[in-house]
Amino acid sequence: MVATDQAITLKTPDEIGIMHQANRIVAGVLRLLEQSIKEGVSTYALDKLAETYCRDHKAIPAFKGYKGFPASLCASVNEEVVHGIPSKNKILKNGDIISLDFGTLFQGFYGDAAITVPVGEVSVQVRTLLEVTKSALLQGIEQARIGNRVSDISRAVQSYCESHGFTVVRQFVGHGIGTQLHEPPEIPNYVQRQPSPRLMEGMVLAIEPMVNLGSAKVKILSDQWTVITADKKPSAHFEHSVAITKNGPQILSDHPPEGTEADLKVGAT
Ligand code: MG
Repeated sequence: MVATDQAITLKTPDEIGIMHQANRIVAGVLRLLEQSIKEGVSTYALDKLAETYCRDHKAIPAFKGYKGFPASLCASVNEEVVHGIPSKNKILKNGDIISLDFGTLFQGFYGDAAITVPVGEVSVQVRTLLEVTKSALLQGIEQARIGNRVSDISRAVQSYCESHGFTVVRQFVGHGIGTQLHEPPEIPNYVQRQPSPRLMEGMVLAIEPMVNLGSAKVKILSDQWTVITADKKPSAHFEHSVAITKNGPQILSDHPPEGTEADLKVGAT
């Protein structure tokens, strides 16, 4: 998915400021969706909510039409790993989990983040899968520091997930992000036996562990988009866009502190 023949782009502090705004719109979408998740809601309704919020905040839904993707939101339920297509026929029920992945284009820069949330009551095992995947993302982000390598992020994610008995998906990876939705470098969630780029100030990375309860194997459905686990066991997905700064990793797809959303317009980073 990521063109590897391009150079890795470094963003200025001003550009990172714009990317912070792009990503906070994503965070706002995901919070709205999380609050709207309940039994009986269709993934189509979630897609419409997400697109409306995005456009109301002067951003363009980045996934809509991307390589022909037919919706604004990727909504992946249970064994669906990523790239689930919203549908009026896909109705959430108690005990499901749903991965919500959303992207924005705002003032020429992209935002991208994802969360996985339970619908009602889920099993202890599935709740653990969600908690471990979310923590694995934070472990990876902790390694997003000047002088480390991409493989340090990969290793942190992989070892944390595997130490809890889960597996990481190989076929899909995180990515650089900026004026393109997918830029180099690739950010695998496992350690590859090949040289790995050194992390530098100004890189912005979308780190996104996709973690399976069972086998790591996945396949793509006949719609050419939806990725599911080969064993049909549940999969979780969390993603943040993160800038590498002198002061360490900066999560761009965070939430503004309560009541300060308007202050973003002054461009604080
Ligand atoms: Mg992404």
